[in-house]
Amino acid sequence: MAELTLENVTKVFTDDDGSDIVAVDDVTFDIDDGEFLVLVGPSGCGKSTTLRMVAGLETVTSGRISLDGQNLVGRDPQDRDIAMVFQSYALYPHMTVQENMSFGLEESTDMPDDEIERQVTETAEMMGIGDLLDRKPGELSGGQQQRVALGRAIVREPAVFLMDEPLSNLDAKLRSQMRTELQRLQEDLGTTTIYVTHDQTEAMTMADKIAILDDGKLQQVGTPLECYHEPANLFVAGFIGEPSMNFFDVERVGEKLVHDDFEYPLSEETAAAVSDTNDLVLGIRPEDIELKTEGDGPHDFDTVVDVVEPMGDENNVYLQFGEGGDVETFVANISGMQHVEPGQPIVAHIPEAAIHVFDQSSGKALR
Ligand code: ATP
Repeated sequence: MAELTLENVTKVFTDDDGSDIVAVDDVTFDIDDGEFLVLVGPSGCGKSTTLRMVAGLETVTSGRISLDGQNLVGRDPQDRDIAMVFQSYALYPHMTVQENMSFGLEESTDMPDDEIERQVTETAEMMGIGDLLDRKPGELSGGQQQRVALGRAIVREPAVFLMDEPLSNLDAKLRSQMRTELQRLQEDLGTTTIYVTHDQTEAMTMADKIAILDDGKLQQVGTPLECYHEPANLFVAGFIGEPSMNFFDVERVGEKLVHDDFEYPLSEETAAAVSDTNDLVLGIRPEDIELKTEGDGPHDFDTVVDVVEPMGDENNVYLQFGEGGDVETFVANISGMQHVEPGQPIVAHIPEAAIHVFDQSSGKALR
């Protein structure tokens, strides 16, 4: 068993001129045994600090971190049964791969040398680096160094893996290959893992559960699909999904959302869900917008194609409600088979089942 819990965890740094920086602000979440949790958010939101507090590399200002109910706060990093993999790999340059992988076991256990050698060889074979054991890190490619760093963590058989952007130094192709390998490995080993990234594709494809941070505060914890389909607030809605969700500031007038360029009629049910607030944001994902040559339904809008961005099997089509002047641009993501051209008038269908509505001032999702 390895269930990790963070309760009201806060980290305050003091900068050079004595002012406080709240890097992590009252964060609470848990990771079940064997779960792969991805901690995601923009640069500076507190991801690494959170991970470093779990590892014991950073003190906790307040709150509790526990593993299977045992408080970890105050315990030395080497006594936490946790292995961390860093973005920079942090391999010892003067040691061979064999020595790098053995080092942790030699330091933290009284395992006999031949047993250490057997485990290192076995793990190296599993990671596809069995023939590199005599090389030093400087003689390895980035991808090979990453495998060594992972192998070094795996060979210790820790209760928890912490990974801080482990793939970000690799090129796109290797990154996607390693992503699949890591997922398979974690499934096979079943080790509880926290994986930090600012890359939402990694978050969506790898996670059992995503925790989204912004400005030190936890915004939402859920499965990738929950965060995609039911974002808790404007931040999550804008962060998850590529291209980002389109947002329109609107005013609720009776059973309509009124924007400068259009009016969006609501069903009774949706109108009731948003009835307490007048200043709202209407959100629609680019992939939920349908483009058609004609249509005059209540959720069909006359627009003009501004720019077409071909993506291969898909097109991102930037649209405007009118020509020139102060018109809002929004984006639809359509099949690459559908042909549209800049300047072409086109009808955008925005289905009510796909819309999101947020409170403008709090950002909270109302529907
Ligand atoms: P990135 O994706 O860029 O690595 P991050 O989400 O991991 O960012 P952190 O490195 O956790 O963010 O930093 C969170 C905040 O804490 C930032 O404002 C950062 O400047 C600040 N911070 C981090 N470490 C320290 C430190 N040792 N002293 C002072 N401030 C720090």
